[in-house]
Amino acid sequence: MKIGILAVQGAFSEQETVLEQLHIPYQEIRCEKDLQERFDGLIFPGGESTVQGKLLRELNLFHPLLHMIQNDIPVLATCAGMILLAQKIDGQNAPYFKTIPMDVKRNAYGRQLGSFRTAAKYKNLGEVPMTFIRAPYVLSAGPGVSILSQTGQHITAVQYRRQTALAFHPELDKDLRIHQNFLEMCARA
Ligand code: GLN
Repeated sequence: MKIGILAVQGAFSEQETVLEQLHIPYQEIRCEKDLQERFDGLIFPGGESTVQGKLLRELNLFHPLLHMIQNDIPVLATCAGMILLAQKIDGQNAPYFKTIPMDVKRNAYGRQLGSFRTAAKYKNLGEVPMTFIRAPYVLSAGPGVSILSQTGQHITAVQYRRQTALAFHPELDKDLRIHQNFLEMCARA
């Protein structure tokens, strides 16, 4: 098993730490030649989606990664990663991969609540700790999108085909079950 971690910007090293704890091999994806490897799954980390989106195009990573997602490689996307997958981004007219039929709102919690920790129910896992950092939430989810978690009124985790998108950062908490679920999906795929 080998996981590719998008490593052009943002919180990729925290994802690497989780995979190290779980003894799962990974490779950073920084340029086209990193995609010569065969991956069983992809991780899109948190960070700044506008910067990541720009770099994906400049580094010629956008189309090969899009092709992999369209071919149903398992993806775990957190925060900025969730934004990259959304079909629509509220108030922004150029979305990125558009591989999940959902509408997301960036920096959705306002300044006061820009970053916070909480815990909420997550499908099949019970309560999980959640760290939000200038996070998005899902305004609406289209057909085929299953809702994995809601925090207060807002949808904060979804699954579509083999893509799992989270508004929060499970890599910053000790609970590794979301990563374990994703890795099980990678092993089955
Ligand atoms: N606010 C960032 C964005 O809009 C996402 C923040 C994060 O990934 N923690 O891209």
